[in-house]
Formats: sequence, structure tokens, C-alpha cells
Amino acid sequence: MKCPDCGKEFSALGRHLAFADCSPTVTSYQHDVLRGVLMSDGWVGTSGRCLQAEWANKKYAKYVSDELEWLCDGVQKRSNRDIWQLSTVSCDYIENNFSWYSSGQKRWPLNKKLTDDTLKHLYAGDGHLKQREGRSDAMIISCENERDRLKTIAVWVESSGYPKPTPHISNAGSSVLYFNTEDTREILNRIAPVDGYEYKWGKHGN
Ligand SMILES: [Zn+2]
Repeated sequence: MKCPDCGKEFSALGRHLAFADCSPTVTSYQHDVLRGVLMSDGWVGTSGRCLQAEWANKKYAKYVSDELEWLCDGVQKRSNRDIWQLSTVSCDYIENNFSWYSSGQKRWPLNKKLTDDTLKHLYAGDGHLKQREGRSDAMIISCENERDRLKTIAVWVESSGYPKPTPHISNAGSSVLYFNTEDTREILNRIAPVDGYEYKWGKHGN
């Protein structure tokens, strides 16, 4: 992998970054992708310095890896299963910016507004489109880890500039944010679909 700062090739870029003076730029777009992945399917590795995730969706895994550029060196297939693993380069940036994922307990950071690029990865990972025959679509985002403060989460979504979702505990006991038809249309037309999960956008966002 090439270090974007000094331009040299390294087999382990993370080790180079740990010992060299190089600190490549993480763009706000890359930050928002990382944040969306971490809010949904991702986790921070035990070192606290790299972000990891795995999906059955190869197309999406490769897409995330490509979008992260130097932060990620492709995806790896798990030996015995059709699961695709992604791991970022270990770097200070992850350690400094994603420490809200502490002790393995995932709590969404509400001190910064939600953005379109974060929301679309959150939705790709933890959301689905409820499509009802002859009726309108509803965008639903699971948030089991935020069960105790769903109303606060809904207010945060609204204060970030999106329509306010309805917090809902389903009959099956799962906690979700639910958007009505009009709001679903507005949001899905605003946040572009991600590769591999285009179907979650239904007829919207094209
Ligand atoms: Zn370098």
C-alpha cells in the first residue's frame, strides 16, 4: 500500500504510520463513511486504532473499501463462508475520532449532526424499506443499542436537518425509527443509494 503522505510503498501501512511522521488526510467524506459503518455493522478493533466490519454483501464491502481509499486495502473473504471482511489501516485518526465506541458498547455520538453520507451507510447496514402492496413505502432503521433513548435519537435526527422519525417498539420487541411515506421519499431521494444495497432504495433515489 502506498502512503499518500510520503508516496512510498509499504506492506503494512499502519506500522509505517505508527512510526513515521506521516499523517495522511482523512476527508470529511471518508469520516462520514466510517461513522455510518461504525454506527451500523462495524466495530473498533481491540487496539482502538482500526475499524472493522463484515458483510455477506460482497459488492457493498468492496464499495466501502474503495470509498475509504488509502484507509483500507480491500476486503478479505472468510475461509469457510461467504462473508467479506473489511479492516482499516491502524491509525491515530480512528483512535482520536471514534473513541465513542468505547468498551465495545455502541452508543451513537449525538454531539455531531447526522450527515447524508453517514445516514446512507447507517441505513444500508441497519435499515430496510417496508414496501406494502398498493400502499406507500416506509423507511425503517433499527436501533437496538439505543432502545432506552429512542426519543432523544429522533430529536437528534430532526435537529440534523431531516424529517423527524417516529420511535417505535415493534410487536416482536425490536426498537426502530420509522419514517412516514412522505418523509421516506424525501430522505431516499436526498441520500444516494450505495452499491450493493440499491434495493433498499426501492424506486427512490434514482
Ligand atoms: Zn508515509
